[in-house]
Amino acid sequence: MPTDCLFCKIVAGAIPANRVYEDELCIGFPDINPQTPTHILIVPKEHVASQAKAVEKHKPLLGHLMMAAADLARTHKLDRGYRVVVNTGDEGGQTVQHLHLHLLGGRAMSWPPG
Ligand code: AMP
Ligand code: ZN
Repeated sequence: MPTDCLFCKIVAGAIPANRVYEDELCIGFPDINPQTPTHILIVPKEHVASQAKAVEKHKPLLGHLMMAAADLARTHKLDRGYRVVVNTGDEGGQTVQHLHLHLLGGRAMSWPPG
C-alpha cells in the first residue's frame, strides 16, 4: 500500500470517514464533495491504482464492488434510478489514484457526461 494514498488511509482508519457500508473486501462512505443528493464512494480495501490497473485476479473483486453498489442503492432507496461511475485516468477525470466506484442518485442526470 502506498503510504501517501488517501483511500488506503481511510481504509486503515487513519483518516476518518462515515462508513455507511463495510464488508471483508470494501467500504462505502459519502463523498466529501457530493455531486448528487446521494453520492457514496465504494472503495476496495486492497490498493488497486485504477480500473486500468485491474488484472485477472481482480475479476471477483470488481463484481463484488458492483454488487455493493447495488446493495447500497437499495438501502438508500434509489428506486427511481442511479448511476455508477468509475473515473479512470487523466481523461476519465480520476483524481484519487485508488480504484473506487461513485454511486450517484437522488436526482435526474444528463447524458452524455461533460
Ligand atoms: P475521482 O475524481 O473519481 O478520483 O473521485 C475522487 C473523489 O474523492 C472525489 O469525488 C472527491 O470529492 C472525493 N474525496 C476526496 N477526499 C475525500 C475524503 N476525505 N472523504 C470523502 N471523499 C473524498
Ligand atoms: Zn490506496
